Amino acid sequence: MAVLKVTKLGNPVLRQVAKEVDLQELTDPKGELQGFIDDMIDTMREEDGVGLAAPQVNRSIQVVVLEYDDNERYPEETPIPVTALINPVLSELSEERVQGWESCLSLIDFRGLVPRSASVRLKAYDRYGKKIEKQVTGFEAVVLQHEIDHLQGKVFLDRMEDLTKLSYQAEFEEFWVKRD
Ligand code: ZN
Repeated sequence: MAVLKVTKLGNPVLRQVAKEVDLQELTDPKGELQGFIDDMIDTMREEDGVGLAAPQVNRSIQVVVLEYDDNERYPEETPIPVTALINPVLSELSEERVQGWESCLSLIDFRGLVPRSASVRLKAYDRYGKKIEKQVTGFEAVVLQHEIDHLQGKVFLDRMEDLTKLSYQAEFEEFWVKRD
């Protein structure tokens, strides 16, 4: 297991368009990409993230990993089993928007209210080079848009429509979390 260092906003790698992964290289048993994907998963878990994109560990290639299971930052969402996506592309982004408070391991300590499409179509490959194509809605659709944005050199700040809804985590908990 290896936990990689997470790149933070200001590092130019986060603003680059990531390179497509060669599928032959991906599935080459002597290659290093499978180990790299394992390291990305370890890093995501260690940092308590719901997703991680390769540029966030300083590698400008099109790989993202996701996993969600009872994360205290997102207590009420549906679980997402651990998934690695290679060369993911989103299409058919719905006009219908949902607003959610996002955070990012590269913008540690910030939360921001971000509008996202409620539904997307995902095309990608899994870590073994098998094609994935599916319609995604709900929390997973939001996480996908956030992570795949990283492969285009974008962070959630770029998607915010109202910067008055940008907050530190502690102030978010104090002023913005709805209490019953
Ligand atoms: Zn992020």
